[in-house]
Amino acid sequence: MTPATAAAESGVSTQAEAATDASPADLVLREVFGFTGYRPGQQEIVSAMMAREDVLAIMPTGGGKSLCYQLPGIAAGGLTLVVSPLVALMEDQVSALRAAGVEAGAFTAGTPEDERERIFGAIEAGGLRLLYVAPERLANERFCAFLQRLPIRRLAVDEAHCISQWGHDFRPDYLRLGPLAATLGVPVGAFTATADEETRREILARLFPERRPRVFLRGFDRPNLFLAFEPKQGGDRQIVDFVAARRGQCGIVYAATRNRTEKLADALVRAGVPAQAYHAGLDPETREVRQRAFSRSDDMVMVATVAFGMGVDKPDVRFVVEADLPKSIESYYQEIGRAGRDGLAAETACFYGLDDIRLARARIDEGDAPEDRKRADHARLNALLALAETPGCRRVPLLAYFGDVSGPCGNCDNCRRPPQTIDGTEPAQMALSAMVRSGERFGMGHVVAILRGVEDERIRRLGHDRLKTFGVGQKWSDGAWKGWLRQLFAQGLCGIDGERHGAWYVTEAGWEVLKGGREVVLRPAEAARKGASGAKAPKPVLAGDDAPLFEAMRALRRELAAEAGVPPYVVFSDRTLIALAEARPTTPEAMASVDGVGRVKLQKFGEAFLEIIRVHR
Ligand code: ADP
Ligand code: ZN
Repeated sequence: MTPATAAAESGVSTQAEAATDASPADLVLREVFGFTGYRPGQQEIVSAMMAREDVLAIMPTGGGKSLCYQLPGIAAGGLTLVVSPLVALMEDQVSALRAAGVEAGAFTAGTPEDERERIFGAIEAGGLRLLYVAPERLANERFCAFLQRLPIRRLAVDEAHCISQWGHDFRPDYLRLGPLAATLGVPVGAFTATADEETRREILARLFPERRPRVFLRGFDRPNLFLAFEPKQGGDRQIVDFVAARRGQCGIVYAATRNRTEKLADALVRAGVPAQAYHAGLDPETREVRQRAFSRSDDMVMVATVAFGMGVDKPDVRFVVEADLPKSIESYYQEIGRAGRDGLAAETACFYGLDDIRLARARIDEGDAPEDRKRADHARLNALLALAETPGCRRVPLLAYFGDVSGPCGNCDNCRRPPQTIDGTEPAQMALSAMVRSGERFGMGHVVAILRGVEDERIRRLGHDRLKTFGVGQKWSDGAWKGWLRQLFAQGLCGIDGERHGAWYVTEAGWEVLKGGREVVLRPAEAARKGASGAKAPKPVLAGDDAPLFEAMRALRRELAAEAGVPPYVVFSDRTLIALAEARPTTPEAMASVDGVGRVKLQKFGEAFLEIIRVHR
């Protein structure tokens, strides 16, 4: 097929092509998606796909993976089969494509008859560009036979890491993709955001046996995400305040238990935030309804367990809060990665407390995993704790964990407001010594009481007022000591024995400190308690004179989206609204040059937005 016929088939004007002499892919990028340029990495991948090469692309969340298979599917013509793990995700992509004037459809178990008919018709007429199917459908032999009769030109596999047994998103039906690709005999593009070495090897072996795809690996950095950690204090208030200060924005709050998601969601609703809970204990319909409501909203907050996961590809999530400590850096990064997929600034905050740490340790110890696995899990938890307690840039150790090298980022709590650090060797020695001298049999409250010289009944009864460490830390407050104990614990200098009622004991590393062979860096007590991310209102997405217009356009977008039964971002993304508010175009031509305004959307929505812009001039 020549580029011209391909372009014609996809509904892109060939005149424009003759006039600008751009490639068919570039044309589709501009005319259909309305984007002025590629995101980093996209162009190379699109070119490889256009050249019918096999591709494995690992891009960070929000990097723009879907465009990498959608665009070739449109520009090169023919039918592209897309396998994607989540129904909601497929539906959103299909509605976004159709809003941009591209023929697309999805086959899931629940696709209604008339929609099936529409898709069949479009395939027959040769107009269907992208056909999404759920992996479960591939278990059905008749369905596979049906696929083989279709004029499929390429296969795209979204969330390709689901093929790996190594990761936690393993989907057995993905194993059928290797054989399917072989029988279809078409080029395959596989896409994922999470693939360590092991997973990558598994994807290659299972999806591309005897083939050598081009591998594209983009760095893991998400520079638009603000990173912050904050010790817990004052219970749920802290989280409610943080979220309430961001009312009007979409966000996700991750919490450790089902019960907690319900409680936090209630508290948020009482604080005037539209919020709902989501967890695996809800029946499937309720989950579906809530997921959809979230996806269709531009100001809702989802309070969820990790059950709310992979399918969340909503681009305009403006913040992610970890209300409890996640279980590893991998989980942390995946969860906060759901913020800011549109590339605009987004905030993340991780709250952690001593109880979280203790619980996480206990969960590992009490599990029935083999010893070496437990050790590895502790090490993973320690890496996360070190990240939480670091006084330096957070992004440097975070990316280092994934094998990326970077400098201080300027977009984390510690970069913005570098915390002071002190030589904490002396208080560390005091605390560890208090533990040892009292027989490593007591909890935090008692250890602190010894340090502060509290003469209560219990202390006297135990004779702890005669210990050498009794009262040595009087000059520091109760809160200061608790903060430091948590830091010492996070640094692995002491442990908490779950079997002996949470008794604090000194670890091997802690003994080095006691013997004077190791220094300890601590954050000063007050700074540790001040709170780094701050519940203060964030900078609005758009400030100043443009804000009223932006809000007016958001309201219009909400109306149009509700009318069309699609999520607001399908009408226009936040990024596009911001660009419109800044550029204030008054003619369709001027509006067309704004990023995200494609031809079809201009036709559908252009006039309505231009009217509002004119009013605001
Ligand atoms: P992910 O890689 O996480 O799957 P998506 O494909 O969902 O990312 O893309 C994230 C967001 O970026 C979407 O809103 C998409 O419309 C937008 N996007 C993708 N490519 C571009 C581009 N070249 N220019 C502007 N926005 C883009
Ligand atoms: Zn930083």
